[in-house]
Amino acid sequence: MLLTDSPVSVARWTAGALRDLRHLAAELSLRTARDEPLARHTSMGVGGPCPLMVWPRRTEHVRRLTRFMGLRGLGWRILGGGSNLLVSDRGITEVILHTGELVDGNRVDTGCAVFAAGTPTARALRSTVDAGLDGLVWSTGLPGTIGGAAAGNAGCWGSDMAHSVAALEVVAGDGAAHRFEGSDLGWTYRTLRFPQELAPPVTIVAVIVATSEGDPAELRSRYEQLQRTKRERQPVGARNSGCIFRNPEGHPGAGQLIEVSGCKGLRIGDAQVSSRHANFVVNRGAATAGQVLDLIDLVGTRVRDCTGVDLQPEIRQW
Ligand SMILES: Cc1cc2nc3c(=O)[nH]c(=O)nc-3n(C[C@H](O)[C@H](O)[C@H](O)COP(=O)(O)OP(=O)(O)OC[C@H]3O[C@@H](n4cnc5c(N)ncnc54)[C@H](O)[C@@H]3O)c2cc1C
Repeated sequence: MLLTDSPVSVARWTAGALRDLRHLAAELSLRTARDEPLARHTSMGVGGPCPLMVWPRRTEHVRRLTRFMGLRGLGWRILGGGSNLLVSDRGITEVILHTGELVDGNRVDTGCAVFAAGTPTARALRSTVDAGLDGLVWSTGLPGTIGGAAAGNAGCWGSDMAHSVAALEVVAGDGAAHRFEGSDLGWTYRTLRFPQELAPPVTIVAVIVATSEGDPAELRSRYEQLQRTKRERQPVGARNSGCIFRNPEGHPGAGQLIEVSGCKGLRIGDAQVSSRHANFVVNRGAATAGQVLDLIDLVGTRVRDCTGVDLQPEIRQW
């Protein structure tokens, strides 16, 4: 029978491709989950299901899965720690490659440290501090994975991944593996761009961080100081996705603009603008992505009306 693009045959075709992908994952002994709610995998704790989640453990797994999905016309997205994401309540139609088990092969040396992309950034940081090496101390308090941090050029305390990444190992959307020096990549505020010829979506499989020898006592004290400050300034104990808006250029920070616009504590359902840090939206318990989005819209409108500044979201929306 000829395949047409009627919804029924497309659905059957996709169901067949998903079944075959599960078989491939089983052959590679990979963990999978069907209709997995993304709320379980995001720090905000919201988000509907994806049809299939797969946990590759090695670069070769990413290459095999990627090639297969490309050939069978399946779309996919990459999920790290889920700490910079707002996923819709309806969920998504793509397969998720979860990097949570892509954690082997880490090596920490003077000059450079190699981390598999799913390594929690906090763990990567601690291993460098324990070895008396500088390079990641600025990332103190940054949740999520080192791959996710590189993918979004995460930054705080005056630095960002652009300044730490010596090189990235990636798998392109066609399954080909590449290595790029940090200086050959397009880093801008909270954004990383790969060379255009690379087939998307690109999975970062390893992050090579530039390290230098430091004074172990000084590194540890800087790390502990930053930890304390982060705890004081950010909401603790409530689910959130970090800063919602980017800091606009040439203006006070987004948090300050939100505060002067009278939005601190503003609430829609269980989504609330944090009373500790106005650029954070917290999930008070049973917030939905819809409530979070409505609140973000409302805050954006109030800030525009009050200050004339058009805030742009920092959080990624799926
Ligand atoms: C309490 C709190 C504080 C925060 N503070 C900061 C801060 O100070 N500075 C800051 O910049 N951010 C901050 N964030 C946001 C977030 O933690 C960072 O952006 C983090 O680096 C995201 O990593 P992740 O693994 O959670 O990425 P995810 O949320 O899983 O993914 C984010 C994006 O990166 C992509 N991605 C993830 N992994 C990969 C990969 N291996 N290859 C390719 N693409 C990938 C995803 O597809 C998605 O588009 C904070 C968040 C929270 C909850």
